[in-house]
Amino acid sequence: MKAVVMRDGALAVSELPDPSAEGWAVVEVKAAGVCGSELHFLDGMIPPPFADFVLGHEIAGVVRSAPEGAAVAPGDRVAVYNFVGCGDCHWCRTGHESICTDPQGQLGWSRNGGYAEQVAAPASNLLKLADNVSFETAAVLSCSGMTAVHAARLADVQLGQTAIVDGVGGVGLMVIQVLAAAGLKVIAVADSDAKAPLALESGASDVIVLDGAEAYESLPERVRELTGAGADHFFELVGTEATMRAGIRSLGRRGTAVLIGYTEDELKIHPIDLILSEARIVSSVAASRHDLQTALDLAAEGKLSVAIDTAYPLDEAETALARLRAREVRGRNVLVP
Ligand SMILES: [Zn+2]
Ligand SMILES: [Zn+2]
Repeated sequence: MKAVVMRDGALAVSELPDPSAEGWAVVEVKAAGVCGSELHFLDGMIPPPFADFVLGHEIAGVVRSAPEGAAVAPGDRVAVYNFVGCGDCHWCRTGHESICTDPQGQLGWSRNGGYAEQVAAPASNLLKLADNVSFETAAVLSCSGMTAVHAARLADVQLGQTAIVDGVGGVGLMVIQVLAAAGLKVIAVADSDAKAPLALESGASDVIVLDGAEAYESLPERVRELTGAGADHFFELVGTEATMRAGIRSLGRRGTAVLIGYTEDELKIHPIDLILSEARIVSSVAASRHDLQTALDLAAEGKLSVAIDTAYPLDEAETALARLRAREVRGRNVLVP
């Protein structure tokens, strides 16, 4: 099969043997999302696990083969959940494979992923798609969409509450949609006026534009102008010290800060900033299979959508990633093998 592999720190289009994994299903890839994480591989921040490693952790396609007794069959349209847990630890047994204590790998991170004509995955990782959910949408929901659902669940959001979403990139726009669908009032924080319309289209009721660390000092006051008592939740996708601190200070009583995005910055805050309002900080990484199922269901109901910028063939993976790096992509690029 044709695949895009990491070779000597760069991308190469190559012929690989078709995947076969004992007891696993094989999926014909129809769309694979191009995510910022792939740039980390190219930049050497994340070393590839082996030579000729196939990138791509946001995958959707058609089942080509499935083991006996699987819930999916050849021909089924599916999204691929990319975590492979041990299946046996407390977290796997309670449906939280993404925090498995003995993970068996992750497609597109430590096992071959979806920048290829085919990918192997455990059959139980394949979630069937409704007819009205496209492969492109399903692929992107398999990363940012499920992450947004997971973060909202961890924050325990409730109807009528107010949330700040700091950062309106791929994940931020998904978080806005999920929170709006859950009945929250959403205040988005963007770094430029140009991004405000996207946040509003995604369901934010207000957009605060803040450019740079100093501007964030005004966030608690701006939020109180809009909410009175402060926000119930702060979803952090930016992750600098200034943004995290400003977000926590924008919370009302018993508010929750949810850390998703991060940089090299440390979070430094005086405990009194948390104690007096009984605020809490929770953190969120990726998502469970159940969260992906919810994201797919929301998409089928028209409550979650994905803006696809451009669909590229495998040969043009380099272009897709170069445009992402240049911040030219509106929504997401996908590869369509
Ligand atoms: Zn991703
Ligand atoms: Zn496990």
